[in-house]
Amino acid sequence: MPDRPPLTLTFAAPRRGKPPRHFADLAPDERAAAVSELGLPAFRAKQLSAHYYSGLSVDPLAWTDLPVAHREDIREALFPPLLTYVRDVSCDGGATVKTLWRLHDGTLVESVLMRYGLRRDGTPGSHGVRSTLCVSSQAGCGMACPFCATGQGGLQRNLSTAEIVDQVRAAAATLAAGGLPGGPGRLNNVVFMGMGEPLANFNAVMRAVRAITSPEPDGLGISARGVTVSTVGLVPRIEQLADAGIPVTLAVSLHAPDDELRDTLVPINTRHKVDEVVDAAWRYAERTKRRVSIEYALIKDVNDQAWRADRLAKVLQSRGDWGWVHVNLIPLNPTPGSKWTASRPEDEAEFVRRLADHRVPVTVRDTRGREIDGACGQLAATERAR
Ligand code: SAH
Repeated sequence: MPDRPPLTLTFAAPRRGKPPRHFADLAPDERAAAVSELGLPAFRAKQLSAHYYSGLSVDPLAWTDLPVAHREDIREALFPPLLTYVRDVSCDGGATVKTLWRLHDGTLVESVLMRYGLRRDGTPGSHGVRSTLCVSSQAGCGMACPFCATGQGGLQRNLSTAEIVDQVRAAAATLAAGGLPGGPGRLNNVVFMGMGEPLANFNAVMRAVRAITSPEPDGLGISARGVTVSTVGLVPRIEQLADAGIPVTLAVSLHAPDDELRDTLVPINTRHKVDEVVDAAWRYAERTKRRVSIEYALIKDVNDQAWRADRLAKVLQSRGDWGWVHVNLIPLNPTPGSKWTASRPEDEAEFVRRLADHRVPVTVRDTRGREIDGACGQLAATERAR
């Protein structure tokens, strides 16, 4: 493993590279104001929303119900191009597509679109197809988890609301156009499990969640239940997320049930200990009545011992066993140069068995996108090295 300077936790994003204002940054009342700034009547705001959020289109020059004379102004003021396609890679027979985007200042971010429920030949299975997009909320990440590719590069900057929303709009447009096997379809789920720590970019992420979950044409019309916000465990922000009153699913990246190990795997643990994080997750479940997901990347001989499974079950069950929690085990996706790898199959099976014995609901996540550097941040890291 090459020597690297020690990673440090970074909360404040550098204040450079603020992207231009975009329609998708604006809440409905702000859209009306922005339209009147351009000397247009307020009803035009609804039209723009319909084109962007229902039509999934980004180019006002093509919107023929707008006066020709204003299309250029609208584009310049409200629809500057935010995401430039760089390339994509796909696997799983085309059912997983990872896209690399370049932002206005050259920053790179990724999103991954996954389609489920297809037969081997790419036709829809009998239970119907579902689609999930994994979005980035920051360029890079300041949380410094040593097993995560994004964490290795540090934090470049926060994404704006529109830079987040437009990843979702682009994926929805791809699906609507039949760009994935299984035929044209809708986006059902959005998971904030791409680059970045979403709760460290709280305001932009919350505004993006509102735009994603508001009914059409004010927003993309995706159910809040279909949105998952994943966090390393920024405890005060978890409380704030519950206060926001949008019933998104919370995922907490625990990765170890004991402080000694978690201090090394998830460095924020030096500030918010396992007990504090699990309490916050439990309170979130209690307040929102939404089952919390505990993420646990299984790393060979690091956190996959049977006694740690018992300890994890104890930590979770001690808060109650009313179905408030679900454990999602993720086989580690090794990052380049890392000394760590996924658990042996027998250790993984024993870990699952122990949790199940303690009646903790548990699933092992499928390893979608593994062949395409599916691990968080790997595509951007490869592009930067080119
Ligand atoms: N910062 C947030 C969201 C982004 S990462 C968080 O940490 O939750 C999404 C999930 O992928 C997290 O659970 C993270 O720990 C996990 N992850 C990151 N790198 C991984 C790797 N190499 N293998 C398996 N899981 C990984």
